Amino acid sequence: MVSRDVQAHDSVVRIGNVPVGGNRFTVIAGPCSVESEQQMLSVSEVVAKEGAVAIRGGAFKPRTSPYDFQGLGEEGLKLMSLARDMTGLPIVSEVMETSQVDMMVNYVDCLQIGARNMQNYGLLKAVGETGKPVLLKRGLSATIEELLLAAEYIYDAGNPNIILCERGIRTFETATRNTLDLNAVAVIKQKSHLPVLVDPSHGTGVRELVIPLSRAAAAVGADGIIVESHLNPSEALSDGHQALTGEMFAQLMQELKPFVEAA
Ligand code: PEP
Ligand code: MN
Repeated sequence: MVSRDVQAHDSVVRIGNVPVGGNRFTVIAGPCSVESEQQMLSVSEVVAKEGAVAIRGGAFKPRTSPYDFQGLGEEGLKLMSLARDMTGLPIVSEVMETSQVDMMVNYVDCLQIGARNMQNYGLLKAVGETGKPVLLKRGLSATIEELLLAAEYIYDAGNPNIILCERGIRTFETATRNTLDLNAVAVIKQKSHLPVLVDPSHGTGVRELVIPLSRAAAAVGADGIIVESHLNPSEALSDGHQALTGEMFAQLMQELKPFVEAA
């Protein structure tokens, strides 16, 4: 059902009132984790002012170490709702477990499935049953075919509102956190009608590489990017080294202008 053979034209998925896919380049931005009201609102204000059309933020965090910050949970979702009220922009947040789905649909405009859960079939079915837009991230070691089949689970459960996301894969290369597979964007565009976003933050793990890879994402034909930003990255509770400062986010939007405006 997610194949081009079934539907030739590009799907457009609406997050709140924001269309993703079709003829526009979408920028979703915000912190890796929701940390506090002040942190969430201040960064949201900046990214909204600079032209982001939706806000990201993690309340439930899939951290590699159990001793690292795990997120504020439902309290974090309340702070994200405040950011939505303040900016008028829809919000995207990761759901980690099936048991969180019913609660989360009351807060968020789009449910993110993280890379580590791409093949959690119970969770895919559960978000499929909600009908809410789903941002499905590619697994760390998943093939493109496996990503598309994961999307098929969501579709088959009754939810066609799926946005795919290339966020980098595991390779032998250690210079960057992951290897951002921009081939995947071009391949998916051939194979599927679903919108595709690129996550250059997790794709590189290095703040200085986020702008160049965002340009590359636009050039290869992605429908947009989802990018991490923090006004004080050295104090961030997660992924500070890949967060764009407010100034860098403004620079990013400046450089993406031809794509955002051409759309
Ligand atoms: C995130 O977006 O904060 C995240 C944890 O991403 P991923 O699932 O791609 O690692
Ligand atoms: Mn992160």
